Amino acid sequence: MLDQTPPAPPSVAHGSALAPNYRPLDVVLVEGDGTWVTDVAGRRYLDCLAGYSALNFGHRHPALVAAAHRQLDTLTLTSRAFSHDLLEPFARAVTALTGTEMLLPMNTGAEAVETAVKAARKWGYDVLGVPDGEATIVVASGAFHGRTTTIVSMSDEREMRAGFGPYTPGFRVVPFGDAEAAAAAVDSTTVAVLVEPVQGEAGVLVPPPDYLPGLRRLCDERGILLVLDEIQSGLGRTGTTLAQDLAGVRADLTTLGKALGGGIMPVSAVVGRRDVLGVLTPGTHGSTFGGNPLACAVGLAVVDLLTPGTLQARAAELGTVLAERAENLVREGLLAAARTVGLWAGLDVEPSLGLSGRQTCELLAAAGVLTKDTHGTTIRLAPPLTIERADLETALETLAEVLRRRRAETR
Ligand SMILES: *Cc1c(COP(=O)(O)O)cnc(C)c1O
Repeated sequence: MLDQTPPAPPSVAHGSALAPNYRPLDVVLVEGDGTWVTDVAGRRYLDCLAGYSALNFGHRHPALVAAAHRQLDTLTLTSRAFSHDLLEPFARAVTALTGTEMLLPMNTGAEAVETAVKAARKWGYDVLGVPDGEATIVVASGAFHGRTTTIVSMSDEREMRAGFGPYTPGFRVVPFGDAEAAAAAVDSTTVAVLVEPVQGEAGVLVPPPDYLPGLRRLCDERGILLVLDEIQSGLGRTGTTLAQDLAGVRADLTTLGKALGGGIMPVSAVVGRRDVLGVLTPGTHGSTFGGNPLACAVGLAVVDLLTPGTLQARAAELGTVLAERAENLVREGLLAAARTVGLWAGLDVEPSLGLSGRQTCELLAAAGVLTKDTHGTTIRLAPPLTIERADLETALETLAEVLRRRRAETR
């Protein structure tokens, strides 16, 4: 959807050894502590991106670092050829936290989505009797599920997709937020509907309240699977353990990642129904590193942080501050729109200010607040759930000042 092709990044021109598949802000970080990060020049910034929710507990949360240190001195990798003492406890803890029956451990988010796609297809062939090789999965326009070749095959975002064909068949893209459009795409080959409960990369798009319940009903009526990608929305971000909790819906399969690794290492998983994940029998799927002891130790410590529910409540409470301040900026004419859920916001900068999301993030970085644009004029705020209220207010006041200064300059 972003159709201006960006200029060649400077790393190519200057002979950097680093592949140019990112264009980071001009900040080189050396240290992180809670919500704060420090750059090579000793400047401090508030981290309001939090690794796209991979840092929900902030940088180097003491309980997570301690768990990792302990495990580094004990056992770090077995492969799945052998088991280890933390694997079953990790599966039990995450399924208990999420109200699910079974867990399949992977590493990155994209691998969790791939795993969900494979489980849904195999379940469709084994259980529904869909003719082999014909399974379809209904997905949403504007979605972000990762970067593998199969996952970019479900994307309708030109930038993510173009140049990487041939594409994996079997996906039907329908508008996000419209359960009837999803229903119209389901036929006898359909095995699942796969969406994000809130579209993060698309700009924190929150669907209408009847969307997930509508998809749940659709999947129940047609006897197919509802698969929710909670890699960014899950584990506290929305003020609830999962974003689907807000809609009172339980998916058949849910993908988790990002925050599950506590900001320390990649840890992902698919959680869901026993009879669905049960189709992946020995030899049909796997990962050398998935569910390794270090990952399980960190993941268990993450579950410990979320089990009391206080961080989720904190995200909800600080989320009301975020929503209120964002609404004020809309009323002040500095933002065209603000979408918030929990401690998560997609903010569209008022177009008359003539600032792209990228430029807004550059001005914010210069003023000591780090975050990331999504598309066009949209920026996202997703600070650690552990952020101090005063720091959140500082970040929002900094954004207001940056935009007010810009408005004064353009008049
Ligand atoms: C980040 C993300 C992914 C991909 O996770 P990686 O760890 O980068 O592979 C998938 N789905 C959603 C919703 C995400 O936000």
